[in-house]
Amino acid sequence: MERYLMPQVQLKCLCGKVTGETADINEHSGTRIHCCCDDCQAFAQYLNHEKSIVDYFGGTDIFQMPLSHLKINQGHEQIACVKLSAKGMHRWYTTCCNTPIGNTMGPKMPFIGVIHNFMANAEHRDVALGKSRGYVHIKFANEKVPENLQAKPFNITLRIILKLLLWKIKGLNNPNAFFNQDQQPIVKPKILK
Ligand SMILES: [Zn+2]
Ligand SMILES: [Zn+2]
Repeated sequence: MERYLMPQVQLKCLCGKVTGETADINEHSGTRIHCCCDDCQAFAQYLNHEKSIVDYFGGTDIFQMPLSHLKINQGHEQIACVKLSAKGMHRWYTTCCNTPIGNTMGPKMPFIGVIHNFMANAEHRDVALGKSRGYVHIKFANEKVPENLQAKPFNITLRIILKLLLWKIKGLNNPNAFFNQDQQPIVKPKILK
């Protein structure tokens, strides 16, 4: 059987001050989804870039992958973090141009949902990461999501949990671009009420 090509993905904010790269990844190394949840939409609004982050349905195109497979090469000082509530996810973005980077669940969880704007692969995203596995949290969608675009909730949840378990066993929260060795976020998150 032919082996899948697993290229690195280059990471770049809109203005180019923050750059990075992923390890070799493809559709099997993570989960690409469109998230319509109110928090993802609120994050896009917070960054004032709703139109370029969120699509017609209100979905954000996200690739969930292991934290250790993502590296920031330059522009560390431009990275900021916001949480929509004290217990919410860490939502990382760049202060230079308000590009969303991705969402993490804390230092011990080997997970980051990288937001499409930070991946320099818009033209060949389907090839690099596979097609989206569908829209989730559609009750928050702005427009009715056609059935063929919806993710099957059971299948997608199971996939995400199994991936997380596997990454946890493999210790893929290390190295970690967003949390230091004391398990603290590299910048203090701003907590929105
Ligand atoms: Zn920038
Ligand atoms: Zn969401």
